[in-house]
Amino acid sequence: MTNKRKYLYGPVPSRRLGLSCGIDIVPLKVCTLNCIYCQLGTTVQTTVERKEYIPIEPVLAELREALAEGLEADYITLAGSGEPTLNSRLGELIDGIKKLTDIPVAILTNGTLLYREDVRADCVKADVVMPSLDAGDEQTFQKINRPNGIISIKKLISGLCTFRKEFMGQLWLEVFFIEGINTDAEHIAKIKKTIELINPDKVHLNTAVRPTAVPNISRLSAEKLQEIAYQLGPKCEVVADWSPTHRRQRKSSITEDTLRYQSVTNSKAESLLSMLKRRPCSLNDICAGLGITQDEARKHISDFQHGGVIRSDEIDGIVFFKAIS
Ligand code: SF4
Repeated sequence: MTNKRKYLYGPVPSRRLGLSCGIDIVPLKVCTLNCIYCQLGTTVQTTVERKEYIPIEPVLAELREALAEGLEADYITLAGSGEPTLNSRLGELIDGIKKLTDIPVAILTNGTLLYREDVRADCVKADVVMPSLDAGDEQTFQKINRPNGIISIKKLISGLCTFRKEFMGQLWLEVFFIEGINTDAEHIAKIKKTIELINPDKVHLNTAVRPTAVPNISRLSAEKLQEIAYQLGPKCEVVADWSPTHRRQRKSSITEDTLRYQSVTNSKAESLLSMLKRRPCSLNDICAGLGITQDEARKHISDFQHGGVIRSDEIDGIVFFKAIS
């Protein structure tokens, strides 16, 4: 059994995907955007250049090995420490995954490259595509997503609309709300109109419940986000996860999944570090994701803190741990 995987991580519990086995196909932090709410920190230089940032052969070799060791997951999720559609061999990778397993493939994307025919041709091979849309006009798009110079909201929306017509799988849009930036009535009306234009299967609403690239981003209350979901219509669902209580409940509900997870990894410390490289996690997130006790999690965290490998930030009384890149 291999305990050092470079590209695969998890499976980790995901509110949107159940038990998700993630695959990194771009390195930190290759992205077309520099979102103020990004959990991975700042994009030093945005890019729109598609290339083989990570070769797909070792990725498929890791997946083959994990499957042979008993990997089970609800989804294989192509993500990365940036924008996965920037990997020019995305389509080939999905073909390769489909040859290895029946587990459905999801892509977590910011959607900005869907205006390109080659990117759409790659993405239609997935089962679920999960793009973002946080603004209804150019000014707000620039403020929240800080795109590469050649990306505009017009291009993003037109790419999403074209992709919707070509893609027969599930399209789940995510909208990230930031208090005072995209939450007034006029802006919500613009987002609603854009959602109707795109016609996704589902719309997931989120807000800043974890540490963000720009500090002091104002999150919405659960009540306000729920109210916006109501205004935006029946396809909308709140996926933000505020409370430690909720996280505790989630932990108990995934006992069986975490047992499955335990069967495919033998190094909790390495898995923990791998999780913290991808996103900030609370103690409860770590316990739920790795199926370990708080004592065990605290021990690993303490070891990493002493080694200067991770740091912590507190948001509304919840401490989040993150790997120092
Ligand atoms: S949130 Fe996603 S799209 Fe935005 S900068 Fe971070 S990685 Fe890129």
